[in-house]
Amino acid sequence: MKFNVHAGHNPAGKIACGAVGLLNESIENRKVKDEVIAQLQALGHTAYDCTENNGSGQSDVLKKIVAKCNAHDVDLDISIHFNSGAKDKEGNKKTTGVEVFVFSASSEAKTYAEKVCAEISALGFRNRGVKYSTSLYVLKHTKAPAMLIECCFVDDKDDAELYDYRKMASSIVKGITGQVYYQPEETKPAEPDEETPVGDKGTLYRVQVGAYSVKENAEAMKEKLRAAGFDAFIAS
Ligand SMILES: [Zn+2]
Repeated sequence: MKFNVHAGHNPAGKIACGAVGLLNESIENRKVKDEVIAQLQALGHTAYDCTENNGSGQSDVLKKIVAKCNAHDVDLDISIHFNSGAKDKEGNKKTTGVEVFVFSASSEAKTYAEKVCAEISALGFRNRGVKYSTSLYVLKHTKAPAMLIECCFVDDKDDAELYDYRKMASSIVKGITGQVYYQPEETKPAEPDEETPVGDKGTLYRVQVGAYSVKENAEAMKEKLRAAGFDAFIAS
């Protein structure tokens, strides 16, 4: 299939950027957007990035997004946003959740939107369901069937803690394609460890972690390293 994908709003910090709470919409929606595009392409689909990063204001951002979308013939336009208004920064053990907008009940995007809601709610987000809006600019002016995904709430601690951009992207991809992109675990940097010497016999390579003018500070670091299992010593 062919898709247009964009993150809503200008980038963080610019005029007409997205909502800011515990999460920053314009940062997270770009991470999700990049991951969605990468997964779609890895699965063999065509995905165009129609994000606008330099609009002069909100309506300019929207116009430029729509112009980019309408330059391609696609099956679906996907707009990625994060919601705000939950006002639950302390956390109440309940997410406020996901909702997806389509233009109307007869939009061809509706069944995809329902699947995206179901997949995101399978991650643990409350399913607020598919909603209709004839006034959202992107839904109104794109020529392909369009959906606007409000992934979760930026101002709900429960949403923010549950949220992971890769899982969010995988759920969107599964919702729109029915396919699961195999997601390798994020590789963690190897634990620091003493290296077995492999060079010339007798050559020791020492790893220094700090230099301190106050002895107490050096002692403190040594204790910290010993507590972490390293054979630390102080040299002057
Ligand atoms: Zn938004």
